[in-house]
Amino acid sequence: MLSDGEIIYRSALFPRMVTSGVIAPERAISDFTRETDADGNQIFTISVGRGNLLPTMGEVHDYGCRVAAAANDDRAKKKGAPLARPDETVHYLGSFKLLVSDVLAAPRQLVELSVVHFPMPGLDEHCNIVLQRNNIEAKKSEVSAERTSILAHLRLSLDDPQPHICACDSDLIELFQDIKLTIAKPAA
Ligand SMILES: [Zn+2]
Repeated sequence: MLSDGEIIYRSALFPRMVTSGVIAPERAISDFTRETDADGNQIFTISVGRGNLLPTMGEVHDYGCRVAAAANDDRAKKKGAPLARPDETVHYLGSFKLLVSDVLAAPRQLVELSVVHFPMPGLDEHCNIVLQRNNIEAKKSEVSAERTSILAHLRLSLDDPQPHICACDSDLIELFQDIKLTIAKPAA
């Protein structure tokens, strides 16, 4: 479990987060992914990178590049053939910063929230923001409303957008160079 003082990074990915030439908070954090944890419990996750292991922006961008590469490997395996570029490929376009303390400050009653280190092949820095239902009785609609408000809180917590075009995407500069990363809060 990550401590309050840590920083995490959310990778901005093409094409799934891009709308009208912009990567906005609503798309950078659109929803949790439903998963089953090692104990068979249903959890909801959002994938991020661990700042402690990514001390420079260069390393943050390298992590994002590996996130995109892992997604592409996965897709190519499923397709059983090389992917058409860029129509079928995923590309890293920069990162947003989040403070773990901001994430954990999200108001909640019906769910537990944590940030957990969860290394993946080629992605030792990978972590999950994990949302898990607690034992307090509630209607489905109430849980869903709380999840929606936590997502809104997380979007507001996105900070310090750092656009980036990978060396591996130098053939796609024209496509990517005008895509902007935006945040909800005014610049400090
Ligand atoms: Zn790359």
